[in-house]
Amino acid sequence: MYVVITCYKCGQFLLARTGQKTKRCPYCETRLALEKTKKVASAKNAQQALDLVQALKQTRASAHDQ
Ligand SMILES: [Zn+2]
Repeated sequence: MYVVITCYKCGQFLLARTGQKTKRCPYCETRLALEKTKKVASAKNAQQALDLVQALKQTRASAHDQ
């Protein structure tokens, strides 16, 4: 299982495996404690998780335009 989380420093969407304790944000290099991050979605596999991130980014982008 994978989870989609948001970085609490820069707000970008990231992927993590469930069971992982920490994850380094590739955008701002912050080491995130996964228990403190906001989980926005979960997925069965990496591909589904990537699709979710894409969809979430598009949703955020279109919301930003309005
Ligand atoms: Zn970040």
